[in-house]
Amino acid sequence: MLAMTPVVRIAVPVPLPQAFDYAVPATCLPPAVGARVRVPFGNRTLVGICIEADPKDAFADPKELLEVLDEQSILPGDVQRLALWLADYYHYPLGEVFATLLPNAALKGMPLRVRTEEIWHRSSAAAPDLSRAERQRALLAFLDSNGGWASGKAIRAAGFTSAMIAALVRKGAIEAGERRFDSEQPPQLTADQEAAVKDYRGKLDRFSPNLLEGVTGSGKTEVYLRAIAHVRRCGRQVLVLVPEIALTPQTLARFRRRYGTTDVMHSGLSDQERLNAWLRCRDGQAQILIGTRSAVFTPFKQLGLIVVDEEHDASFKQQDRLRYSARDVAVKRARDLGIPLILGSATPSLESLENVRRRRYRTQLLHQRATGAPMPSMHILDIRGHPLREGLSHPLTARIERHLDAGGQVLVFLNRRGYAPVYLCPDCGWQAACSHCDARLTLHQGRKRLACHHCGAERPVTETCPSCGSAHLLAVGAGTERTEAGLRERFPGASLIRIDSDTARSQRRLEEGLAKIGRGEPGILIGTQMLAKGHDFPNITMVAAVNADAGFLSADFKAPERTAQLLIQVAGRAGRASRPGEVWIQTLQPTNPALRRLIQEGYAGFADHELSIRHRAGLPPARHMALLRAAAADPAAPAAFLAELRAKLPNDLEVLGPAPAQMQRLANQHRFQLMLLADRRGPLHRGIRAVAGVAAPRGVRWEIDVDPADAL
Ligand code: ADP
Ligand code: ZN
Ligand code: ZN
Repeated sequence: MLAMTPVVRIAVPVPLPQAFDYAVPATCLPPAVGARVRVPFGNRTLVGICIEADPKDAFADPKELLEVLDEQSILPGDVQRLALWLADYYHYPLGEVFATLLPNAALKGMPLRVRTEEIWHRSSAAAPDLSRAERQRALLAFLDSNGGWASGKAIRAAGFTSAMIAALVRKGAIEAGERRFDSEQPPQLTADQEAAVKDYRGKLDRFSPNLLEGVTGSGKTEVYLRAIAHVRRCGRQVLVLVPEIALTPQTLARFRRRYGTTDVMHSGLSDQERLNAWLRCRDGQAQILIGTRSAVFTPFKQLGLIVVDEEHDASFKQQDRLRYSARDVAVKRARDLGIPLILGSATPSLESLENVRRRRYRTQLLHQRATGAPMPSMHILDIRGHPLREGLSHPLTARIERHLDAGGQVLVFLNRRGYAPVYLCPDCGWQAACSHCDARLTLHQGRKRLACHHCGAERPVTETCPSCGSAHLLAVGAGTERTEAGLRERFPGASLIRIDSDTARSQRRLEEGLAKIGRGEPGILIGTQMLAKGHDFPNITMVAAVNADAGFLSADFKAPERTAQLLIQVAGRAGRASRPGEVWIQTLQPTNPALRRLIQEGYAGFADHELSIRHRAGLPPARHMALLRAAAADPAAPAAFLAELRAKLPNDLEVLGPAPAQMQRLANQHRFQLMLLADRRGPLHRGIRAVAGVAAPRGVRWEIDVDPADAL
């Protein structure tokens, strides 16, 4: 018998660094590199990717694979190479890298075919008289609350029938298929926009990384749209990455008005919808893809430009499993493909500014708002010595009142949800604390719950102290819920809308609130950072930031940068239309140097100084960092394990720790970390490689975080 059974090497989605060899049974053709195969693994069946045919060092006695799922590679060569690079750079198992970058449908072994779902949208015709068809009216309202459209499946899942759909089609109220948008005339570019667009032209055929720095409202999107037009004219595709929160129906509508079809990719899609977009990009039918973080892995037939909007945004960094930065992966892809890249932001990350300093990136500046509206003025409101009512000082509410009286809208920004962050007993000092974390419980008055914002644990509110029985428990400090209550009492006539992840659960209420504010009626908008971007509220004349400066005091080295970005982004909501805006930052630490610099010199001055601080301290982006994080139920185990890793690390690295995480216990896991720093990437990665394969003792989980988003 001939011993020539072909062997293939398969990346299998399991948390092990190596790939596995399988024999190809006589009944199948050997899979191409990049094709999916079904393989036995332990007592399971998994879908893996073929990464090598006939490896020289093949395993002597491999198991047989079960099925070859694809006739050819499902991934173009550049994405296959990207997967290898990701596994190497983030020190993550290749099989799990594929599992992260492939659409779910592909991982489940489904056939890779575009299958469009039945979709219904509101027609542009005036709504017919439905006063006697209550369910049909409800169906229209359902479509409206979903941005004007829904799939047939979603409609039926919400309790409507095919007969109701048919009736509305007959009456001309709804139509089948994607919504069509009226096309839009592009505006005359401002001089700054013109200069930026000109800078991109003529460089479309090579890797050219650009940082588009434009103040809030300066029309960065218009610049992207023009650059995209050039790329499309050359018959090439475009990838636009946006932060999770920014992919609103408005953003999408803007692209669709300009260019007709625009595909989307985000976590809210069904497996099939995601697969459709993925295939359309890979096979060249899609022209523009707008997506959140993981869209950066989408294969394209002929990608010609990548745009990363709000490039500083933290949501581009995945915070578990494969801890990649979509912005950094975008830079890597643009370089590999030899195409231009635009990173846009009003508050660029220090990493990107460092790249500008080192002349690796070009910059284009948009100094003014595109509409000609002036930038809002920013002020510090010193409230030392002022009593606070529900977190608000009298000088602040007096200013709010003035703006409301003048017919303006006020945005109150408070990055803390719930009623109060502390619930305590003044008689014995007891505080409501989470039994699973080193953290206090936040009081949610409306739901009558005490909730941990770290692990999600909740319990009912106790009216008496569990420690001494006192009935005088106190809620200390203010979150959005309490501030809302305080403002309602102070301004009984004003319309008030709160937007945070608690209220966002009721999509309908949120939409109603947003519509009211959108119409420009005077009122107050209270919310967390969910308010900082995405929606455009032209009538806001004042932004009040309550407690927003607390971040300047955090122990994390990136906290001042984050805090400044958030403050400037929120401030940018003010004065977008004709009336000028002002921003008031209520603070108990008016002399904080970082805050003062931000107000006096703006983000550019702040960032420049902060970058010098990082250089002096030897922190990123001046140097390169990785964290090795370990966690276990046993408080002693993680530190002991990390000490063992530390001993294995080469001595050309600076190593700090093992040190406890800022919140040592989270969800009953004790967390510790080792911080690795190096001047160059080479030694950092060599160091990590020296320990990457070390198995942790039973009960200890550990992971590698390259270029961490925080060092807490
Ligand atoms: P950014 O993303 O920089 O914050 P946007 O792209 O959202 O700014 O633009 C802000 C506003 O300015 C939008 O309402 C947009 O329609 C408008 N705008 C952009 N460019 C122009 C222009 N050249 N002329 C007039 N209005 C413009
Ligand atoms: Zn007590
Ligand atoms: Zn907890």
